[in-house]
Amino acid sequence: MRIAVVSDVHANLPALDAVLADAGPVDAVWHLGDIVGYGPDPDGVVDRLRAIGAIGVCGNHDLAASGAIGLDRFNPDPRTAMEWTRRTISAATIEWLRVLPVRRSVGDFTLVHGSAVDPTWEYVTSPSGARDSLAATSTAHGLNGHTHVPVAFEKRGGRVARLDVAPGVPLELEAERVLLNPGSVGQPRDRDPRASYLLLDLAAQTATWNRVPYDIESVRDHMRAVGLPDRLIDRLPRGV
Ligand code: ZN
Repeated sequence: MRIAVVSDVHANLPALDAVLADAGPVDAVWHLGDIVGYGPDPDGVVDRLRAIGAIGVCGNHDLAASGAIGLDRFNPDPRTAMEWTRRTISAATIEWLRVLPVRRSVGDFTLVHGSAVDPTWEYVTSPSGARDSLAATSTAHGLNGHTHVPVAFEKRGGRVARLDVAPGVPLELEAERVLLNPGSVGQPRDRDPRASYLLLDLAAQTATWNRVPYDIESVRDHMRAVGLPDRLIDRLPRGV
């Protein structure tokens, strides 16, 4: 079984379509939230994920878009983009986002946006954060997003270590527990502007991170056309 895991698509449809084309035929698409926010095409991204039967969880931006949480914890530019998103999205998009759970278990994996301790807001960036998140799940493995940076943590014999991941190099899922972050499809922040996603091969027991180029300039033009903040437009080609 091959599963494409995507996170933090952030209303960037060209990036999502490039990832889906790169992944090719898969048995499932799992998403880890922040489907909307920042980008110019929230309805298009939700329509695509709905059409392919993707399953997943909600992130802080999705909760804000559907009105489940307020905007008080958003910084000025994300807040401006979210106010635009709220004005723009269709009733069908709101409904699809509104019923997403904050966590979901599928087979050996628990899916959350932030961490299993705080699915909405916590950034897992350290082995101690990964240990706490794994301790809060009943499945062997975890998948999370939110940081927009691809990374893996593995637990062996009670010790949790951070593993750097390289595009196209499979990680063997041989540790007793792993916590994997696919990086961001629509707004990577590891100084590589290409869309990032994770391919799980459950038969081979491997996880492979991939980077995919897409037409960034078309997205920036779209963002300008709808009046999204300049700083959000400027960061895309820099991958920050
Ligand atoms: Zn995000």
